[in-house]
Amino acid sequence: MNVKEWSFKLLGLLNPKVLSAIEKSAQAIPQVKGKMDSEFAEIVKGMEESAKPYKNRFQTYSHFPEAGRSREEILNEMEELRSLEQSRWESGYASGAVYHGDPEFVEFLNKAYSLHSQSNPLHFDLWPSATKFESEIISMTANMLGANEESGDSSSPKEVCGSVSSGGTDSILLAMKTYRDWAIKKKGIAKPEIIAPTTAHAAFDKAAEYFDIKLIRVPVGKDFRADVEATVQSINKNTAVLVGSAVSFPHGVIDPIEELSELARERGIGFHTDACLGGYVLPWAKKLGYSVPDFDFSLPGVTSISVDTHKFGYAPKGTSVVLYRNPELREHQFFTVTEWPGGMYLSPTFAGSRAGGPIAACWAALLATGEKGYLDATKQILETGTKIRKGIEEIPEVQVLGDPLWVIAFASKDYDIYQIMELMTQKGWSLNGLHHPPCVHICVTLRHTQAGVADKFLEDLRSSVAHVRANPDEKTGSAPIYGMAATLPFRGVVSDLLKKYMEVLYKI
Ligand SMILES: *Cc1c(COP(=O)(O)O)cnc(C)c1O
Repeated sequence: MNVKEWSFKLLGLLNPKVLSAIEKSAQAIPQVKGKMDSEFAEIVKGMEESAKPYKNRFQTYSHFPEAGRSREEILNEMEELRSLEQSRWESGYASGAVYHGDPEFVEFLNKAYSLHSQSNPLHFDLWPSATKFESEIISMTANMLGANEESGDSSSPKEVCGSVSSGGTDSILLAMKTYRDWAIKKKGIAKPEIIAPTTAHAAFDKAAEYFDIKLIRVPVGKDFRADVEATVQSINKNTAVLVGSAVSFPHGVIDPIEELSELARERGIGFHTDACLGGYVLPWAKKLGYSVPDFDFSLPGVTSISVDTHKFGYAPKGTSVVLYRNPELREHQFFTVTEWPGGMYLSPTFAGSRAGGPIAACWAALLATGEKGYLDATKQILETGTKIRKGIEEIPEVQVLGDPLWVIAFASKDYDIYQIMELMTQKGWSLNGLHHPPCVHICVTLRHTQAGVADKFLEDLRSSVAHVRANPDEKTGSAPIYGMAATLPFRGVVSDLLKKYMEVLYKI
């Protein structure tokens, strides 16, 4: 370790409040600020180059064209953009991202989408089809997740219901807002709190920030699953809801949902299973004979679930489902205004007008796939996941984290995992860089079940690892930035950098 790394380590031991004070005072020193600004400028320039590849290849529009352009020309240009971007995800180089992607299936979804592209479920009088689609998406999803199985506990009645939202984050935000209002109205908790493992999705932080709810993050165990004992210690009189993931985004593991949800049930508080990633895989995995612990409404303590149709439900982007154990809970999600001159207003989710196209396409995806389709797809994905996991385990320089099925995270004890990821990026792969601890994951989808993809991944990983082993000090591309962002004790600086990145994305 060099001096810089040592000072990072030492600073890392300080209390976050002290650190943030040091950070503020350091930034007040002109030399420090100047140095940081110039380092920032360098990084931001690099970001801009990689985020804006079309700058010199296509015309840029900051204003309307004076006369509208020809439709044909526009479509040709869009077709060119699409084809430039298609091959990487289509041939299986991306972690997650596109979960089905078979060309004929995509064409079918596009037809369903375009048939209903003008519809808006806000106008339920004009488009009762949209509400038909929604209620059936909810019902099919709920029945997959134990809605009608006997829980053997009459104290926790089930009339599972829910809403279609626009994505996983949206579902989580809705559920957390629902618990906040339920806790205030029904539990008399003035300042409700959420308890979630550190690995639960960033959307829980977003919910906490947006809705002014305190979020307590509980460290996970060595197996990367939620720590039940530590959770018990964090529960207090303000706790409104406990959270667990099935599976977690970073390491693809299933939290001990049964134990956690029992903690909640014993105390009369909510339990939310975030099954955004696993909800459309685990039920089928279980049917296929994989050992899958209970995580859904078959457990009497589970009071809500988020589950993404736009991931392993194979719908196009723009839909997810949030489910509640009964309508008494969901009621706190609903919004009404009775005195607005614009009329009686009712809205079940955050958006007012909503896109009917994605909902229609989601319904079509669920019907076209059917039980057999989900079983077949899951079988292929889990077999490919097993193959990739085994292959990674055979590389001595990297270690698989936890006990995953198809979202496989790996780290390296002796080498820079971000440099390994950077070499994979150079070979065309788009993997997810994670931290705490530093690692990388691949989320296996149907794209990776195509012939040769898993072998190519393992071959590229072996050669990337071999290169890093031979050149352990080489740092290229985004590896140093990842390394810095993961270890820099000044988290405010990292946050500023991320905000700068968003500014870059919005630049034309
Ligand atoms: C993807 C994901 C989310 C968030 O979903 P978005 O659709 O990206 O908003 C939440 N939780 C888990 C476990 C996820 O994998």
